[in-house]
Amino acid sequence: MMDDAYTPALVEFELTADEITVITLVLATAKPWDVKTNHPHYTDVQAIKKKIEGFHLNRHNNQCCYCRRFLGGAGHFMIDREHVLPKSVPAYRPLTFTIWNLGISCKRCNMEYKKERVDFVIDGADEEAFQKSDNYRLIHPNFDNYVEHISHSMTQADGTIVQKFTRHAGSEKAEYTYEFFNLRGLEVDGFDEAQGAIEKEEILGEGAIEARALAERFGQ
Ligand SMILES: [Zn+2]
Repeated sequence: MMDDAYTPALVEFELTADEITVITLVLATAKPWDVKTNHPHYTDVQAIKKKIEGFHLNRHNNQCCYCRRFLGGAGHFMIDREHVLPKSVPAYRPLTFTIWNLGISCKRCNMEYKKERVDFVIDGADEEAFQKSDNYRLIHPNFDNYVEHISHSMTQADGTIVQKFTRHAGSEKAEYTYEFFNLRGLEVDGFDEAQGAIEKEEILGEGAIEARALAERFGQ
């Protein structure tokens, strides 16, 4: 039984016989995901990718699976179809169209932080373990329920965004994901925008915000 934290369930994702035929054909090529525009099945592959994207956006309420950025209505300049086990690694290429290995992320998380990294995988050779939450150090887009590890809050007013990623006590995945995707950077950037006058160094210090508030309150 596969771990699955969202609805509709992974097992409800269905491919038609024609789609399976196309996937089988392109998986035999070097770059099954990025077939050339002149490939006879280019249009079919694009349609399959779009179908996968819609399914995963629905499961995550249109949010990035790693930083919870809202992606509803966003174009391809913002959205990446994310392969958890990277399709660039030959051993993982057969999983290029496998629904449990896919998710939807923002460009920042995928391009700047996840890239082709595989160090978040505990056992990269045990195919049975691939479908288990325990085999991943980060919050998996399909096998882990994000909110059980990190609570994301965001307030937005008049063009400023302040967000907070609260890691739940005892969740190693929360700490790992927070570091891996530099979620602190999103908190700081948002805070900077909202509090333009405050220097970044002040914010980065442990407890600096609380200290500043106390100092202001007591005139120290
Ligand atoms: Zn993201």
